[in-house]
Amino acid sequence: MYWQPKEECLDRGALAELQRKRLQKTLTRVASHVPFYRNTFKKRNLDPTQLRSLEELQEYPFTLKQDLRDNYPYGLFAVPLRDIVRVHSSSGTTGMATVVGYSRNDIQTWSDLVARVLCGAGLTREDVIQIAFGYGLFTGGFGLHYGAERLGASVIPISAGNTRRQLQIMRDFKTTALVCTPSYALKMADVMMDIGINPHGLSLRWGLFGAEPWSEEMRLELNERLGIIATDNYGLSEIIGPGVAGECQECNGLHINEDHFLVEVIDPETLQPVPPGEIGELVITTLTKEAFPVIRYRTRDLTRLLPGPCPCGRTLMRMSRMTGRSDDMLIIKGVNVFPTQIESVLFAIDGTQPHYRLIVDRINNEDRLTVMVEAVESMLFDAMKKQRSLINTIKKQLATELGIGVEVKLVEERTLERFEGKGNRVIDNRKI
Ligand SMILES: [Zn+2]
Repeated sequence: MYWQPKEECLDRGALAELQRKRLQKTLTRVASHVPFYRNTFKKRNLDPTQLRSLEELQEYPFTLKQDLRDNYPYGLFAVPLRDIVRVHSSSGTTGMATVVGYSRNDIQTWSDLVARVLCGAGLTREDVIQIAFGYGLFTGGFGLHYGAERLGASVIPISAGNTRRQLQIMRDFKTTALVCTPSYALKMADVMMDIGINPHGLSLRWGLFGAEPWSEEMRLELNERLGIIATDNYGLSEIIGPGVAGECQECNGLHINEDHFLVEVIDPETLQPVPPGEIGELVITTLTKEAFPVIRYRTRDLTRLLPGPCPCGRTLMRMSRMTGRSDDMLIIKGVNVFPTQIESVLFAIDGTQPHYRLIVDRINNEDRLTVMVEAVESMLFDAMKKQRSLINTIKKQLATELGIGVEVKLVEERTLERFEGKGNRVIDNRKI
């Protein structure tokens, strides 16, 4: 049930003391080994050896993605290159790549943290885990791979793509757990239908999905269509990759591996902590990383902390699934809109398929959001009246959820692009 019971169920007081010690050690190390941190600390007259409490971390500066780019490739490493056993890189959706490194101990830690996530989701060494995340510079494939091996499960390192082959292997190798993005799992469900594989006749029981924001409605859809229990897990290469946090079988928020990562939730405008339980940007400080420690890294991911104990017995704090990235947020007619909000509404309406695209235009200085959604086949053969009524239902529910009017367009099944990795469902044609 737990991979590291002592750590995962640590008394909160003992955890805070462990965090404080580890924080001080990390701050002291980066101050002496990484010129970037030494200089920024010096500018603010910060002396990590004097750190008395976790709250004092708030006096330290944030680290931004741009700081990683400015120190490309190895400028933020805290150990010499000869102690680095692995390099990963994130291309990001925009701009220059960032590079992260791991020491031998970092790889051990990473494996254990991902094993915690897998174990928390219900997996054991009896499971056959098909890893359909990309392997390579992206941390997803390797991270889950090491965790699954550490757990002692049987790993199928198939990587992303070639969906028919994925499904053939899933059937023949008796895969019990699928690891990929929720978008790709949805594509697999569609292809299963096309080629006549009944998911309920497979050995598949678990889905561990991550690397992109997704809605609760998408989870229900995947559970039903694939006959699985889907859980969410979270990580990012700048911090360690997957293994930062993961859902237990309660499926009610992700337990953060707080003995290794100290989290804050801030208001991205004022940069001050938000009141407990409110949504804000997740900021992470690594507490045990050797090769690539980061201090107060602004993830751009939006979430909220969920106070209170979890019935699973873990004392590690939970956070809600990501609402989205602050980068993904669309501002339409001055209103903040997240694609996951629209997804929640669409998935709950009968007559549509769980595939959609959002198109934003600016016409005569006014924003217009068009939601394209696939209609179920029978709907398109129905009378215009029924189609219009479906469009009106969607419009009305989206207007209630978002507070703005949107255009809705029904398209035929299988006309919108499917994704094998992270989905990209927004086309913003505005030149701003
Ligand atoms: Zn739990």
